[in-house]
Parts: sequence; C-alpha cells; structure tokens
Amino acid sequence: MFEVQIKINCPHCQSSKVVKNGKKKNGSQNLLCRNCQKQFQPIYRYRGADPTTKRLIRRLLERNNGVRDIEKLLEVSRKCVLSNLCRQGNALKIQPTQKHYRSVQIDEVWSFVGKRKKGKYWLLYAYCPQTDEVLAYSCGGRSAKTVRQLLKKLKGVEIEQYCTDHWKAFAQVIPRQSTR
Ligand SMILES: [Zn+2]
Repeated sequence: MFEVQIKINCPHCQSSKVVKNGKKKNGSQNLLCRNCQKQFQPIYRYRGADPTTKRLIRRLLERNNGVRDIEKLLEVSRKCVLSNLCRQGNALKIQPTQKHYRSVQIDEVWSFVGKRKKGKYWLLYAYCPQTDEVLAYSCGGRSAKTVRQLLKKLKGVEIEQYCTDHWKAFAQVIPRQSTR
C-alpha cells in the first residue's frame, strides 16, 4: 500500500500551508490557507471562479489581449471577463495600444455586485471592435463622474467616434463629434 500526496499551494499567495476546511455545499473539498486565511477549492467546477483563471484574465487584459481571445483561451464567458474588471475597482492598469482609434464603443455592465459597496456597481468600459481590445474602464455609480473617470483614462488617445446607447451622463460629458 502506498499513498499519493499531492501538494497544493494557495492560489492567492502561493503558500504551501494549506489545510482541509470542510466541504462545500456541492460536495467538493474546501481548503484553507493558513498564511492568507483565504479559502479555495482544489478543483473549481466553474473555471471562472478559479483564482488562477481570474489572475490570468487580469494579466491578459493589462496586456491588451483581445476579449474574444481571452474567452477562447481560458474558456470563460464575457461576463466572467468583465466581472473581473469590475472587481478590481479602478486598480487595473490598461493602456490603449494605439494612439488613434476610428470607432470606440462605450458599453456598460451593471449587474455585478461590487465588493466594497453594497448593491449595484457599474462598470463602464471602452471597447474597440476592430482590435477586440478593452481600452479603458471605470467603476462606480451610474453617474457623470464615472463617465469622466473613463474619459480621463482615454486622454492622449484620439478617438474619432464614440458609439454608445443613449444615456444622459454620456451626453453631458462625451464630446459630440470628433474631438478634433
Ligand atoms: Zn494563501
């Protein structure tokens, strides 16, 4: 008889001080990291819930990888990619790769619950369909402030045309036509 031991490191802090911590409702083993006190599971049923996947999504976004590519490579949904943006508050550093974009879509997602704030948390993001790239994003209330925050991040980038659904806050802040 022999036993196979598999060492699992914490996906949050990479510590090896990991102990069993009961079972989840769905029957899967729950683990606890003695170092950072975070809980995790050895195998995630939903790939998007895996902290390693979450980290990869953030890295790929920061390196301006296409959203469609991220979905394909990591086998996650667009909702999962976007919710990872939202969870970052405004901490993720995304720099547009080009100086000039012909058309940029401003989209909004509002169904995610932010960590710090209770209730609905809005994610606003600038997306270029041609390059499939998220150029910038902004999180907060559904207000002109959040729009301004987004546009501030797009400073230094020439955008010929913004496409967006009609929304008051945009009308107040977004330049009517080309900025030039
Ligand atoms: Zn840890």
